[in-house]
Amino acid sequence: MEQNMMDTIARISGVNLRRCMRCGKCTASCPAFDEMEYHPHQFVSMVENGRIDELLASQGIYTCLSCFACVERCPRNVEPAKLIEAVRLAVIRKQGENHLHAEQIPAMLDDELPQQAIVSAFRKYKR
Ligand code: SF4
Ligand code: SF4
Repeated sequence: MEQNMMDTIARISGVNLRRCMRCGKCTASCPAFDEMEYHPHQFVSMVENGRIDELLASQGIYTCLSCFACVERCPRNVEPAKLIEAVRLAVIRKQGENHLHAEQIPAMLDDELPQQAIVSAFRKYKR
């Protein structure tokens, strides 16, 4: 089960865990550092080490600002923010709360919705 969840999170995120060299630059640039019990570099190593349950129970997945500073700073293109988002999605799906499907999104659009939000929603819900 843990292995399955680990594979699912790695697949959804598209993150190559082995690229991380544990430099900590992602964590050093994280503006939500104080609000997250596990920091971006720890998400990478914890997924790699199969510590999935701890991450699924982490409040940090909700306090991450999705600012992508960790993605910008990473010299190895690991993109830890995508991993955090994948863990958050895994929790939502586990709780059976992911009732929105990509096909339902067009009906919810209005002129003031930023395009970036629409693209992001499609990416999030088509997986
Ligand atoms: S995306 Fe989240 S984890 Fe990454 S720097 Fe921003 S707040 Fe921190
Ligand atoms: S900045 Fe990139 S390589 Fe460095 S610890 Fe974070 S994820 Fe790993």
